[in-house]
Formats: sequence, C-alpha cells, structure tokens
Amino acid sequence: MEFRLSANSLIDLITALWLGFVGACIGSFLNVVAYRMPLGMSVIWKPSHCPKCNHAIRAYDNVPVLGWLWLKGKCRDCGEPISPRYAIVEFLMGAAFFVLAYVELFTGGANLRGGPITEFTGAMNNVWVPQWQLIGIYAYHGLCLAWLMSMVLIIIDRQQIPLKLIAFGAVLIVMLELLERPHVEAAGVCLLALAAYLNNVRIAKFQSKSKR
Ligand SMILES: [Zn+2]
Repeated sequence: MEFRLSANSLIDLITALWLGFVGACIGSFLNVVAYRMPLGMSVIWKPSHCPKCNHAIRAYDNVPVLGWLWLKGKCRDCGEPISPRYAIVEFLMGAAFFVLAYVELFTGGANLRGGPITEFTGAMNNVWVPQWQLIGIYAYHGLCLAWLMSMVLIIIDRQQIPLKLIAFGAVLIVMLELLERPHVEAAGVCLLALAAYLNNVRIAKFQSKSKR
C-alpha cells in the first residue's frame, strides 16, 4: 500500500500537533492548579519553581513533556527527581487535544449530537478559515477536559477540591448557552460538580476521624 501525504492531510497534522502543544501547555498549568489551589496559593502570579530547592524553573526547561525528558526527570539546580506525573499530565492533555482536533474539529463536528456544525472538513476549512462556532465547541470540550483533569489530580492527592474550582462548572454551563448547544454536556458538568462535592464530604469525614 502506498502512503502519500497530501497537502491537506499535512495541514491537518501540523494543526493537530500545534493544538496538541496548546493542550500540553494547559496540562502544565493544571499541574500548578492541582498543587497550589488546595494550599490556597495563587495559580498565576508566581513562576514555577522546584518544590525541593525552590529555584525558579528556567523558561527553556519549562517546555511541556520535553523539558522533563531532557532534564531526565531531575531538577537542574538540586538534582532531586521531579515526579513523572507532571510530564504524564502534560502528555495526556496534549494527546486529548490532538485526538479531539481530528474527531471534532476536522470533521466539522460530524460526531456531535444534533449533527455537524459545518459541511466543511479538514483544518484548512475549519481552522485557518475559522468556523467560530465549531472552534468554540472544540475549545469548550477542551476546557471541560481540563476541568475534569484538575479535579482528578486533586482527588489523587487526597485533597479537598476548592469550591472555586467546583463553581467553575457554572461558567461551563453559561458557555453552553452562549454556544447555542443543546444541554447534553450540562448534565455531565452537574454530575461532576456533585462528585467533587461528595469527595470533599468524604475527605472531611476522614480528616475528622483521624484527628480523634
Ligand atoms: Zn531543585
């Protein structure tokens, strides 16, 4: 079988890789959110630093996944191992954005409930000639995934999920309204917020037991 890369599939691939990179950067931010938010620290106004020696991470080492790989999982300053979890989260978010680009964005939303958003396919017709509603829905689902991932990370850490983060679900539901979408996702958002709340109740119970 002959494999030929047409111009269009090359544009698709480059676009999906670029979106995957954006997803990996979001994953990098989620690592920070999951670490700092339960501690009540600001998630934006301080650059990343090594949790062991407190040295700021250099900009050129702060590249998602790759930074961890070329540092061989060690801090450049103190040599302490850096958990592979950071790189894994970045990779998963990158992969999710990459795959979502192909199944949602480049198909014109053909897999969406209620049918496609545009009749166009491919990155050229849907991204570089922007179909804003479709791009909005892609960004929306990316945001839902990021929200889910941030809560999963906090649950893995056995921390309470900050109420601010749970309340972000309300923003997601308002966004659905703006995107003029049927409220299929709203049910998922509400379920997840409920699960997050129940997790907090469970942890509060556990903490009061271990205090006694
Ligand atoms: Zn260090």
